[in-house]
Amino acid sequence: MEEGLTPIKQIIREEIHDEGAYKTWIEPIAFREFTGNTVHLSVPNRFFKDWILEHYKETIQVCASRFLRSEDLDIRIFIDEKSDSFKKSSPVRLPDQSTTTGVNPFNTAYTFETFVIGKNNQFAQAACQAVAASPGKTYNPLFIYGGVGLGKTHLLNAIGNEALTQKTVLSPANISFTSGEEFTNEVINAIRFDRMDKFRDKFRNVDILMIDDIQFIAGKEATQAEFFHTFNALYVSKKQIVVTCDRFPKDIKNIEERLRSRFEWGLIADIQPPDIETKVAILKKKSEKENIQLTNEVAIFVASKTGSNIRSLEGLLTRLIAFSSLTGKPITIPFAREILKGIINDTDKTINVEDIQKVVCNHYGIRVSDIKSKRRSKAFVMPRQIAMYLSRNLCNISLSDIGEKFGGKDHSTVIHAINKVESLLKKDPYLIETLEEIKGKIYA
Ligand code: ADP
Ligand code: MG
Repeated sequence: MEEGLTPIKQIIREEIHDEGAYKTWIEPIAFREFTGNTVHLSVPNRFFKDWILEHYKETIQVCASRFLRSEDLDIRIFIDEKSDSFKKSSPVRLPDQSTTTGVNPFNTAYTFETFVIGKNNQFAQAACQAVAASPGKTYNPLFIYGGVGLGKTHLLNAIGNEALTQKTVLSPANISFTSGEEFTNEVINAIRFDRMDKFRDKFRNVDILMIDDIQFIAGKEATQAEFFHTFNALYVSKKQIVVTCDRFPKDIKNIEERLRSRFEWGLIADIQPPDIETKVAILKKKSEKENIQLTNEVAIFVASKTGSNIRSLEGLLTRLIAFSSLTGKPITIPFAREILKGIINDTDKTINVEDIQKVVCNHYGIRVSDIKSKRRSKAFVMPRQIAMYLSRNLCNISLSDIGEKFGGKDHSTVIHAINKVESLLKKDPYLIETLEEIKGKIYA
């Protein structure tokens, strides 16, 4: 049960956006079960429970509701002293002390290894890798732009993780990693509490400065001025600057011209929306990591029914894995369709074998009687195998019934066809696309 609910932690992690706090307070929580409308969780001790109640209850509620798609959730917290991982990590570290130097501030799940390269992001990925390998020496500044959920934050974390692993930067203290929003808050606080010197110390004495979502500083004059000076100080001492943005420098409104031109000094790399192969590859990679066998067919089904946001794509997969582990059912297309109903743009249309035969034959310019026949000519074998494969995956029908509908063939012939298509799909990206197109027509 617990395994099924743990994805909630990941959602909380993204929500609170603070690795120190996440590791201290959320990671040790065990999500026990979900009964009625109540999520049961256990924590190591009384102190922990009080802290969660005071600081994180609402966040947990919101994130659990989002994941379980259930409103008005109740959260019940139990104390399970046996699991006191908290004691082991004593002395108690409060969140505001977690930013001590030496702690890796980066999300260790976001590395270059876990980043799937596709046509849409290969340029940005390569630029980031080069920067991590020799900060300040290749592309400076590096400006990455792309839409929401396309991997910008992942790449920044990857740079940080890689630079520390490769020791091109010696300590986390030498990397400043912040967001446009946090940077703005820091400027405001520094001004308010007269701590400008401390602020400058912090941002101007690093080897890498990374600011995520820089668009946030648009329209904020004092912040822009401060960033401008920070930029110059780092740039002249050949320190690396990396920023991400949701748009191209020219399209950022309300930003000072001198800043815009600074962004254009170095390399500008874009991340485009992923194509279907990249989305499939991401789903496969992530499911492998979770030790889940996701068939190509299901991966394609999910990838083709979603937009370009990879965060949402991952959300769907997490949901499938969770429900599969909660119910013990394998992840098939009908299962995915059921679990993701209302979330993905899937029609409720039920498909029958006749529909599939018609569309496949149309696609290949042959007659339905041809794929029902026993003829072994190349022009018919492939479409026949594809139609059998799709029938198995899109309709709730047994192997022998499929054989029956293809002119009375044996169920072993159907198995052979399915295996054949599965193995072709592994090595032929064009076939993935063809199947996508055919499926689009079947559901049209
Ligand atoms: P952005 O900052 O551009 O809004 P994120 O970097 O937060 O997007 O990415 C959203 C999610 O998608 C993250 O969980 C990230 O790991 C994942 N993701 C994005 N691109 C890729 C990729 N190419 N390979 C693997 N995971 C990716
Ligand atoms: Mg981001």
